[in-house]
Formats: sequence, structure tokens, C-alpha cells
Amino acid sequence: MTELTSNYRRVNARIEQACQHHSRSINSVKLLAVSKTKPATLIEQAYQLGMRSFGENYVQEGLEKTQALAHLTDIEWHFIGPLQANKTRIVAENFDWLETLDRERIAKRLNEQRPPQLAQLNVLIQVNISQEAQKSGLMPDQVLDFAQSLSQFERLRLRGLMCIAEATTDQKALLAQFQHMQHLFIQLQAQHPQIDTLSMGMSGDLDLAIACGSTEIRIGTDIFGARS
Ligand SMILES: *Cc1c(COP(=O)(O)O)cnc(C)c1O
Repeated sequence: MTELTSNYRRVNARIEQACQHHSRSINSVKLLAVSKTKPATLIEQAYQLGMRSFGENYVQEGLEKTQALAHLTDIEWHFIGPLQANKTRIVAENFDWLETLDRERIAKRLNEQRPPQLAQLNVLIQVNISQEAQKSGLMPDQVLDFAQSLSQFERLRLRGLMCIAEATTDQKALLAQFQHMQHLFIQLQAQHPQIDTLSMGMSGDLDLAIACGSTEIRIGTDIFGARS
């Protein structure tokens, strides 16, 4: 068995266990395989094992991989890094999801640049749930208004929320942040019934995230190995 195979099984088992533990169905949680810095050949191996959704953080690198793997037609590319206005076109033309939307100016550009022959671009609003000054994302109390403003952009499809919790092992602090996200998600869903995605939880905190309603876990290192 390759290392990738055993990693994938281990990660799946952890997600499965968390789902059982919190009475969630297994297919209510998607695994996003975070493939930044990893070569297209390794992503293709992951695809052969059954992974379908991949997360990239850098625009140029992501573009190269989407092109190299264009023959995998049911693959799903998520952009999960910070996005500068001058790079929006590459995301609009080559990705299926943007998970880090937090500015109307970016939304406007993506909306104009999304090619008409492609489906709408799926977007998640990034929330700075730990309210750390250096972090990107909207403050929690800005989310509902921002979501409302996105309805003018017909080439974007609002799917939900994303957060990167504080880098801490303090379970109480993490729980408070995840519960806050869950609360926001439920509020948002009351106004936008179509939203279905809460991208929250990474390798160290996936059990807690799944307990709090996460529908997408983002994992890099535990699948593909350490990044150099
Ligand atoms: C890199 C990254 C991950 C995955 O991190 P690992 O520690 O490698 O699992 C998840 N989410 C985001 C937004 C990332 O940038």
C-alpha cells in the first residue's frame, strides 16, 4: 500500500469516527484535500483513490495544476488562499469554488470575469472568527450584510461560510469559535436557504468541527505529507 493510500484511509477513518460520535451521516461531511505545493502527479494519484475536491492557495500554481489535470472532468478545484484583485481572472476562469471571499470588490470582478459557458462560481464568505487583527475574513457581525450584497452578482453562487480557527490547542476557545460559526451559519441559512457548506476544521480539530456542524474538512499534510 502506498503512503498516500494509508494516509487517505486514516483521514477517512477519523472523519467517519467523528461523524458516528456526533450522529452525523458520513456523506454530510466532504473532505477537501489541500494540495498546495504538491505536484499534479500526486493529485492524480489521489484522484485515482477516490478524492475529488482539491484546495489550492496560490493562483499561478493552481492554474498550472488545473491545466495539467484538465482530463479529469469531475474534479473540483477550490481556491482557499488570499486573493488579490489583479489575480481574480485566473480563479474566475479555472476554479469551481472560492472559499475566501471577504470583499465586494473581489466579488464584482469575479462576477464580471466568470465565463458564461461555465457554471456559477461557488463562493464561501471567509469569517475571521477568532477576530485576530492580522487575519483575513470578515468580522462576524458583517457577514449577513455582506451576504445580502452578493445577491446582485448573478455569476456567483453563495454556498456558505469558511473559517480558519485560532491556532491553539485550547479546546474551550476552539469550541466557542466553532459554535459561533454554527450560529452564524444557521442565521445565514434562514435568509439564504440554498446555502449548504460550512468549511471549518483541519487535521487537529476535525472532531470538534464536525460536532459543531462542519460540512467540509480541509486537510493537507495528513494526506500528502509535510510541505517543504
Ligand atoms: C494549508 C491549508 C490547510 C491544510 O493545512 P494542513 O496543516 O497541511 O492540513 C487547510 N486550510 C487552509 C486555508 C490552508 O491554507
